[in-house]
Amino acid sequence: MIMFNKYCRTFILMALTILIATACNATPNEPTDTKENVSETATPKNPDSQQNPQVDKQDDTTNKPTLPFSELQKGDTGKQVSNLQQVLIQAGYAIKNTDVYDSETVWAITDFQMQTSKEMITGIYTLKTKQLLEKVLANQLAITPGKALPWKKSELTADKKVEVSNPYEILVLVNKSHALPETFIPEDLVTPAVRFPFSEDLPKKQMRKPAAEALEKMFAAADKAGVDLFAQSGYRSFTRQQSIFAANVSKNGEEAANKYSARPGESEHQTGLTMDVTSPAVSFDLIIEFGETPEGKWIQTHASEFGFIIRYPKGKEEITKYQYEPWHLRFVGKKAAKEITDNKLTLEEYVEKLN
Ligand SMILES: [Zn+2]
Repeated sequence: MIMFNKYCRTFILMALTILIATACNATPNEPTDTKENVSETATPKNPDSQQNPQVDKQDDTTNKPTLPFSELQKGDTGKQVSNLQQVLIQAGYAIKNTDVYDSETVWAITDFQMQTSKEMITGIYTLKTKQLLEKVLANQLAITPGKALPWKKSELTADKKVEVSNPYEILVLVNKSHALPETFIPEDLVTPAVRFPFSEDLPKKQMRKPAAEALEKMFAAADKAGVDLFAQSGYRSFTRQQSIFAANVSKNGEEAANKYSARPGESEHQTGLTMDVTSPAVSFDLIIEFGETPEGKWIQTHASEFGFIIRYPKGKEEITKYQYEPWHLRFVGKKAAKEITDNKLTLEEYVEKLN
């Protein structure tokens, strides 16, 4: 009995020792696991990152500037422009970070849009541009800066005119002292679905895509208002303008022709951003009386809502160097159209303010 008890006690002690040892071995692991789990789940719940999202944002912006969420265009200034410029520089564009949406920024955005979003080439930064730039940053989209529109400074030609360096810019200034390159043919010409007083499929029905879409919207609104607008003449190539000007010179002489007709390269119609409009009330002619028709009056009030301006207004002949043309509409985008119209400016005056 005593022996048995002795062995039994020894056995029980050994068994207890093993049990305790096993328990002791197990003990350090469990809390460690639990701690790891806690710390994993705790990380995102860290009150600092929840309550101070700026902490995380600051870390992000040191590597990756935040792309602006609002539209930006020439003349805009500030932190958002600077952020956009940082991204463009990161994407390989050799521009300066100036905080000002300058000609270099317009060029970079235009070139970028030509390579990625052929339908909306404007030089204006939009949410669509933002999405595409994000793809470039994520290496999902490859571009070659300057491939579509090589960087060029505006140069003076032999006859002291400025040769336009970015013909795709929506605010491009084309006039008797700013000429388009002879070779410029917009690559995004389309025929807007609007009324023309003729049925032939002529090139003059065309406009650049952003302008054509805006024209369609304007015509739809005119229809609703019961206004009988017709489109008469849009895109005109350099060579077509050459023969029109030559015909006008032989008819009326060069000096007279220059007052109502443009030399090749100096016609806004070559930009693809222009449409001459008319109405049955003036037999579809392009004459000053159009300005007094219901259609002429309607566009004076509403064209800017769709991004168009009356490019050669009454009383501004000294600046535009053209007589009043109530029929000649030029697309500049909604923001510029509103500012130009509300302040009774010409495109010359507006663009000068931006540069
Ligand atoms: Zn015109």
